[in-house]
Amino acid sequence: MTDDTRIPLATAGTPDPGRRESARAVLGEPRTSPHRQPHDLGHPPAGALYIHTPFCVHKCHYCDFYSFVDSRDQQAAFVDRLIRELDALAPHSGPLESIFVGGGTPSLLRVELWSRVLSALHARFDLTSPALEFTVECNPESASPDLLAALRAGGVNRVSLGAQSFQPRHLKTLERWHDPDNVPLAVEAARTAGIARQSVDLIYAIPGQTLAEWEDDLRRALALQTTHLSCYNLTYEPNTAMTVRLKRGEFEPLDEDLEADMFELTGAMLAGAGLARYEVSNYARPGDECRHNLTYWRQGPWLAAGPSASGHVWASADRAAGGRRWKNTPSLGVYLDHDDAGYAPIADHEPADPARALRERIMTGIRLGEGLDAGALLDDAARVQPACVPTLERKARGLRDDGLLRITPDRWTIHGRGWLLADWVAKQLMACVE
Ligand code: SF4
Repeated sequence: MTDDTRIPLATAGTPDPGRRESARAVLGEPRTSPHRQPHDLGHPPAGALYIHTPFCVHKCHYCDFYSFVDSRDQQAAFVDRLIRELDALAPHSGPLESIFVGGGTPSLLRVELWSRVLSALHARFDLTSPALEFTVECNPESASPDLLAALRAGGVNRVSLGAQSFQPRHLKTLERWHDPDNVPLAVEAARTAGIARQSVDLIYAIPGQTLAEWEDDLRRALALQTTHLSCYNLTYEPNTAMTVRLKRGEFEPLDEDLEADMFELTGAMLAGAGLARYEVSNYARPGDECRHNLTYWRQGPWLAAGPSASGHVWASADRAAGGRRWKNTPSLGVYLDHDDAGYAPIADHEPADPARALRERIMTGIRLGEGLDAGALLDDAARVQPACVPTLERKARGLRDDGLLRITPDRWTIHGRGWLLADWVAKQLMACVE
C-alpha cells in the first residue's frame, strides 16, 4: 500500500529506548478536554487524520511499510486500542477535512470491527464538513460488497485500490498476491456501494517489464474510469525482500532510460484521458486530487493513529515556526502494551525547527504541479534565515535557465525535464537553507 507521510525524522529526537515516550509528550495535553477551544491546545487544531492498520495477507517483496500476517488474530485488540488512541487524539483536532486509513490492508479488518471504528470516529470527531474526504485503502481481494456498503454507510467516500500491475508475471515478481481480474470487480463494487471517488495504484519499472506492457497496464487502468491514479516507480527500499533478491543477482533493475520513457508515457497517456499530473506520481481529474495527501505535501497539520503512523502538528499559528513531527512505534505488541491515557508510544519525534520546515516545504512542494508559493517561502526564509534568500533566488534562476523550473512572480513550478528530476531539483534548493 502507499504511505505519503514519510518524511525522514531526525535521529536527534529519538527517545531513550529504556523510556517509552508517548505522543502526549509531543502534542501536549489539551487543557479543557473534551470541551476545549482551539486556544486550549498547544498547537493549532489539525483537520486531517491518518490511521494505520498493520495487517496483510502476505508480505509483498517491495514493501517496507509496517505490516505483517496476523496469524494470532489480533484485530479486535487492535481496534480496542485504536479507539482509546482516537479518544486521546480527538481533542487535538478541529473539524476534519480528511481521514485516510492506510496500512497494511485496511480492507482486511472484519466488517463488525470496521463498524466500531466508524462509530468511534463519528462519536469523537467533527465529521460534518461537506468537504470531508474519507479514504480507505483496499486490496482487490478483500473489498467485498458488505465491507464497501459498511464503509459507505460510515461516511467513506473514496477508496484507494492497490492494483500495481495487470500482468500476473509482474505481480509474481513483486510477490503481490491478488488476481488482476478482481481489480475491475472491486472498482464496480465500490461504485455500486455509492463510493464515487476511486483511485488505483500502479507500479512501473518492474524488472523485466517492457514499455508495451506498461502501456497495457495504463490502458487497463484507464478503462476503469476512476477519478485518480497513482503511478509509482519501483524503489528498492533497504531491508525488503526485493532488495535482497536484487543484491543476490536474481534480476537486474530496469534500465533508467526505459524507466524515464515509462514516466513520460504515463504523463502523456493520462493527460490525454483527462487525468492531470498534480504530483510527481499522482494524477487526477480536476477537483479529484487527494486532498489528504495534499495536506502532507503542503506541510499542513495532521494527526496520526495506529502503529508506525507519523503525524505533524504546527507549533503555532505562525507557519514559519515549523511543526512538530512524531512517529508511533512500529510494533503492534508495543502499541497494545503501552497506553499513556490513550496516546501511543512513539519511536521518534522532532521538535519544531524553522530551517527544517523550510527544507521540508521545498522537498514536498516542488513535486507538486502547483509548485511552491515562492512569495510566502521567501518571506518566511527572510525571517528564519535571511542569508539564504539570495542563494535560493539565484539557485532557482539557474534551474530555470536549465529548463527545469518555471518562475512567475508568485510560484516556482517544476517544468519539462524537471519532472523527471524533481527530487534532485528539490535537493538543489534545499541545500540553500542551512
Ligand atoms: S499489501 Fe503488500 S504493499 Fe500493501 S502494505 Fe501489505 S505487504 Fe505492503
